[in-house]
Amino acid sequence: MMEPAVPPRSGRERGPITPEGVLQWLLEGNRRWVGGQLVHPHGTVARRAALAAGQDPMATVFSCIDSRVPPEIVFDCGVGDLFVVRTAAHTNDGLVQGAVEYGVDEALTPLLVVMSHQRCGAVGLAVETLNAGRAAPAHLEDVVEALRPAYEAAKALPGDQVDNTVRAQIRLTVEQLHHDSMLEPLESQGRARVIGAYYSLDSGAVDFHQA
Ligand SMILES: [Zn+2]
Repeated sequence: MMEPAVPPRSGRERGPITPEGVLQWLLEGNRRWVGGQLVHPHGTVARRAALAAGQDPMATVFSCIDSRVPPEIVFDCGVGDLFVVRTAAHTNDGLVQGAVEYGVDEALTPLLVVMSHQRCGAVGLAVETLNAGRAAPAHLEDVVEALRPAYEAAKALPGDQVDNTVRAQIRLTVEQLHHDSMLEPLESQGRARVIGAYYSLDSGAVDFHQA
């Protein structure tokens, strides 16, 4: 099986690649997923061996735990391509944000994608719990509380409350990461870029927020 053309890597030895170049690469992989033309690149023993001494991923993806949205599949890439941080509805705290910082600053990925998705169950749980004025069981309450700002931002909007909250959570997470003390200077220097993305369960398409 032919492997798709892959642009130069972003790591220390192979020279820089722009955030826009990585975005195009992700878009091409997602088009293959949408069109049912997956090539499953970078899944060979040779690839494993080539990366054994060090990783050199293209992008950091901060996304939801949902089993239907595995980043390596929806972007049709493979081992060593993505630095992935996943939590319920990409809820964030210091430990999580440290992992995201590691991907961007230590693994030198020029693009950070904050990706949520249609019909997010974690957001649905938060909306249901907060609408009812209840507490969620055990540590799910931590997830619900982490989603409260997105819930508050979206609750007065017309339309689907869960989808509006999903989109607010993307926006608020991107804003938060724009102001991260490690990421902000990288963005202002053009070495890294943080963007939001929304994944459609129905079509498989990722809609990147260009702003
Ligand atoms: Zn989700």
